[in-house]
Amino acid sequence: MRTIIEQQAGFCFGVVRAINSLEEQLQQSGKLYCLGDIVHNSMEVKRLEDKGLQTITLEEMKTLRNCKVMIRAHGEPPSTYELAKTNNITLIDATCPMVLKLQKDVLKGYQDIKKKNGQIVIFGKKGHAEVIGLCGQTENNAVVISKEEDIDKIDMTKPLHIFSQTTKNKEDYRNIISVIKSRHRTGDILVTDSICKKVSSRAEKIEEFAKSVDCVLFVSGKNSSNGLYLYNLCKRSNPNTFFITDTEDIDIEKVKQFNLVGISGATSTPMWLMKKVEQTICAAN
Ligand code: SF4
Repeated sequence: MRTIIEQQAGFCFGVVRAINSLEEQLQQSGKLYCLGDIVHNSMEVKRLEDKGLQTITLEEMKTLRNCKVMIRAHGEPPSTYELAKTNNITLIDATCPMVLKLQKDVLKGYQDIKKKNGQIVIFGKKGHAEVIGLCGQTENNAVVISKEEDIDKIDMTKPLHIFSQTTKNKEDYRNIISVIKSRHRTGDILVTDSICKKVSSRAEKIEEFAKSVDCVLFVSGKNSSNGLYLYNLCKRSNPNTFFITDTEDIDIEKVKQFNLVGISGATSTPMWLMKKVEQTICAAN
């Protein structure tokens, strides 16, 4: 049995940047609050918590004063920045530059469409940190849609400007846009391609990778939307794809039946965890 880790796997640029900045801060002070999970991977969160990271909720942040709080790669709405100012909290802002740009585009789109009495539509997961940050740019007036049934929430008589959460998949975005266009009364619709290239290029590569191996161990946190998406692509290309969060989830006897075992993961899966999976399989060989 041989193993291979997908070349493209590992953290995306935005997450690497946020974690580097966090580790730098932890080295200096030994402790730092982070608003929400720094990354959707409990193993990596645990590693960083052991170094002094303290994950807090927005409610907890409201009780803090005169301290430092990190904003993770997903970004935050303007209200969080206002809260920090009021409570004299220094923000270590690790919002991914691509998310930051999208926030600016949504804000500009909202200001423009407001003049035409139109609507901002965001294709994304309701309640996801990035989507909350985007909605915040629109005074929370954006309509969030995640599936076709949600389209009924859109006023089809108004001009629309549609954006996507950066980690959604291209195919679903394209499909939902075409349904909206087919139902819209006037066709006054602007669409911004806001899917992160890192995610879309991984999608193309991961299918090739899954086909090139006998089975895939896909390592991801259960709450990573990008992880679930990439896992489903792997499974479509190779039915012998298994979702694992850590080495305990590996069914060694099953894996031993395959000659070439591929290992991949979400954009939030650390490389050290994929290497740990590789070592576990090799040790059992
Ligand atoms: S997936 Fe893309 S947009 Fe999102 S944090 Fe990573 S690099 Fe940034």
